[in-house]
Amino acid sequence: MELSKKLAILADAAKYDASCTSSGAAPRDSRGGRGIGSTAPMGICHSYTPDGRCVSLLKVLLTNYCVYDCLYCVNRVTSNVPRARFRIDEIVALTLDFYRRNCIEGLFLSSGIVRSPDYTMEQLVEVARRLREDHDFRGYIHLKTIPDASPELLAAAGRHADRLSLNVELPTPQGLATLAPQKDALAIRGAMGRLHRRIEAAKDAARERAPVSLPGAPARRAAPPRFAPGGQSTQMIVGADASDDRTIITTAATLYRDYRLRRVYYSAFSPIPDAARSLPPVAPPLVREHRLYQADWLVRFYGFGHDEIVTGGDGMLALEHDPKLAWALAHRERFPVDLNTAPRELLLRVPGLGVRTVERLLLARQGRRLRHADLKALRVPLAKALPFVVLADHRPGKALEAATAPRAAQQLGLFDAAPA
Ligand code: SF4
Repeated sequence: MELSKKLAILADAAKYDASCTSSGAAPRDSRGGRGIGSTAPMGICHSYTPDGRCVSLLKVLLTNYCVYDCLYCVNRVTSNVPRARFRIDEIVALTLDFYRRNCIEGLFLSSGIVRSPDYTMEQLVEVARRLREDHDFRGYIHLKTIPDASPELLAAAGRHADRLSLNVELPTPQGLATLAPQKDALAIRGAMGRLHRRIEAAKDAARERAPVSLPGAPARRAAPPRFAPGGQSTQMIVGADASDDRTIITTAATLYRDYRLRRVYYSAFSPIPDAARSLPPVAPPLVREHRLYQADWLVRFYGFGHDEIVTGGDGMLALEHDPKLAWALAHRERFPVDLNTAPRELLLRVPGLGVRTVERLLLARQGRRLRHADLKALRVPLAKALPFVVLADHRPGKALEAATAPRAAQQLGLFDAAPA
């Protein structure tokens, strides 16, 4: 099979792995002299680093053959999809080639399971090893790891990769047992625990490394052992089983706490051809995935408890409001908040105020009383924030009641303006 055909199949198969924001973009290119730019180079996606940089990655599977039969997966053994498999030297050459052409800054590599978890993991590790050791590749490498693979192979993966991920797949062990009976929730948690301990040990070693001095050379510190310095992440599929948002957020909070994950990715279930009857026939609304990311952010950066985010009795996040606004609407007694006196943790609960804005407000109010114009200067979304705050020259009055009053659902006509 031609390399470009393999790339088309295996890059498309990789799009279900979350960690990337653009691999589902519609293909466009400027052939024929129309327009500029292209989304056509197969497998190139964008991911965001913790400092906000956007990096381009070659995101592919080593193979989409798989001996497992996870019901939600298009690559399961019983699925009737075109199959392909890269040789190790092909994926290494592709990565280097894209890198030299400045198309990518790194590689995101995953795989279906062929022969056995150990055999597959060996292949993934060998790609990373060759890139690092044979070609001195300095770019980013993210390897998806296989929980049942031997600890030695997971250790080798961490030596070469910047980040490792292990998918928990579904929010509950029961969901996993039903939809992916060959996977073992305990084995996944066990492997996450091992990765966590190795990542922490490598960080400790980096802090404690001893100085090395050679005759005639200034003393310097020995390079610490390297192990996945970008940490580990995981992915949960949303909407394939009946788990509600409260369960999903609780599971994510447990994973962050127990394994210090860098990210939990939420991936809305995509209906697949010839799907099992136990799967829903339609995808969940994409906005549900978006709301889960917002809730995740609130827990990690805004001081919200995971058990207070879902305010509805049905265990689901409201789709019509972001979770912070939904929380404010459900806790009207906590508002309005006086921006000139409230502590940081309360400011972080005000709809429309982000973490950086709160830091700037805290700084600004050391020298003067905050006014309406300060929020405007900081580009705070005023319509969202003003009903919930008191300023030197502003009190919400009836605006708070109006903002928090339940609105009757309104069916708009085609040419009606949407309410603000
Ligand atoms: S092991 Fe991975 S690739 Fe194979 S069927 Fe399950 S989810 Fe799909």
